[in-house]
Amino acid sequence: MLDLLINNGIIVDGTGNPGFYGSVGVSGDTISIFRGALNDVEATRVIDAKRKVVCPGFIDVHAHSGLMILAEPEHHPKVRQGITTELVGVDGNSYAPFTSHDDFLAFFELNSGLDGAPELPGNWSTVAEYLNMFDGTVAVNIAYVIGNSPLRISAVGWDEKPASDSEIANMRSMLREGMEDGAFGLSTGLDYPPGSYADTNELVELAQVAGRYGGIYHTHLRNTLGDQFLDPVKEALEIGQRGEIPCHLTHFYQKLTHSGSAKRLLELVDGAVGQGQDVTMDCFHYGYSSTRLLILIPSWAFNGGPEKLKAIIRSDEGRERLRQEIRPRSGSFTELMMTNFKQPHNLRFEGKSLAEAAEMMKKGEVDTICDLLLDEDLQISYVSPGPSLTTLPDFITHARTMIGTDAVLLGEYPNPRSYGTFPTILADYVREEGRLTLEEAIRKMTSMAAHRLDIRDRGMLRDGMKADIVVFDPDTVSSPATLQNPKQYPVGIDYVLVNGKVVVDQGQHTGALAGRALRHGRD
Ligand SMILES: [Zn+2]
Repeated sequence: MLDLLINNGIIVDGTGNPGFYGSVGVSGDTISIFRGALNDVEATRVIDAKRKVVCPGFIDVHAHSGLMILAEPEHHPKVRQGITTELVGVDGNSYAPFTSHDDFLAFFELNSGLDGAPELPGNWSTVAEYLNMFDGTVAVNIAYVIGNSPLRISAVGWDEKPASDSEIANMRSMLREGMEDGAFGLSTGLDYPPGSYADTNELVELAQVAGRYGGIYHTHLRNTLGDQFLDPVKEALEIGQRGEIPCHLTHFYQKLTHSGSAKRLLELVDGAVGQGQDVTMDCFHYGYSSTRLLILIPSWAFNGGPEKLKAIIRSDEGRERLRQEIRPRSGSFTELMMTNFKQPHNLRFEGKSLAEAAEMMKKGEVDTICDLLLDEDLQISYVSPGPSLTTLPDFITHARTMIGTDAVLLGEYPNPRSYGTFPTILADYVREEGRLTLEEAIRKMTSMAAHRLDIRDRGMLRDGMKADIVVFDPDTVSSPATLQNPKQYPVGIDYVLVNGKVVVDQGQHTGALAGRALRHGRD
């Protein structure tokens, strides 16, 4: 007797192999696969999947849910896309281990425009304690990479200075412990202080530890380095090579600000792969980037930590220097749209551009940024032009690219990718434009990511695998989320199962919190 039978669908198993007519049985949290329709098997519940695709649950290899899912555990924006596992702790900005709770709170505030500042259901300090927070309490599975920022804050402090040998030894031992607790690797976000204060050698030292445990190096590049085009990629590849660790270039695309072509970026990756290096990438198909507004503040101002940073922003002298130095990272301030305001008197700025807000406040743009950041405890998030839309397909269709949403879950005007990344690939790349076969697109969303992370019992529909499953309609699947109206759930994602439990049922969330932390080496 099966708990559930998903009958007579088109099974696309995640390996890239052609789809076939078949059925998936679920017993507890594991699956069995059958060819064709089953009429004589007993099951507590039968879902008719006629003309629907049945595939493994999607794995998002760049998620900003590490805090928000604890506060909003049903996690609608993500699970309704068919996502059943997320990688959190990305961009070097992760929330364990922390040896001091004050440091945790300071970091929590510093990064609140990216990962939120929700009320948390408990405290933790180690990676093991943090992972325990997710078991049976959230809608999807959580895999975790350790950011170098918390390691550096605990071992070196908040200052912009090289780490000493003993500080590096401390970071290595914290990382070792976190890897033993089940982390999947090391992350960096080299546009974000204080993690970005680490030089290449320091990161090689850390990468070696994560590599020895079978982890990956997951990196948001140091975009300010050298030519600001190829040099950041070269640094990442060097860290991968010297650290003897797989190198994963996250949200990897050609920026509008790059001085050269997408081809040259991808040639670097192909060249490294040709030499035997293990390199992978992830991407989404949206022409907007999103992050915390604080990223516009230059790196030197973060020296010493958040309190010193706020003092600089507040001071006349600091403010004058910021006026000279702050520029849009891409596009103009007219195209930079802000969100995630909490103060009632600032709600009028939700979805407004920075230029509009400056006009409303009758201030210069930099003063507007500074005053709003102070007034909002740094929590503002924004959406602006970033990736070149023209060349995104070159990255997404590349043989070594998987899918990452980079979904920021904050404010009334989040990036539409937060709600639509996976369905958009299925709608645009597969159905409308034929850039990817259905099987290849699903492979990028499932087994490729599971393989990258070394998760062995998910990412494929095979007998005995875990029951993380999506049932969707290939003729209608799509995302209505747009820049102006981003908080819209996808169409055509009919059922989502996590660990054998139905979390999305006929397109509606059941409230089931069937997710848990995955632990590297044990899952
Ligand atoms: Zn990110």
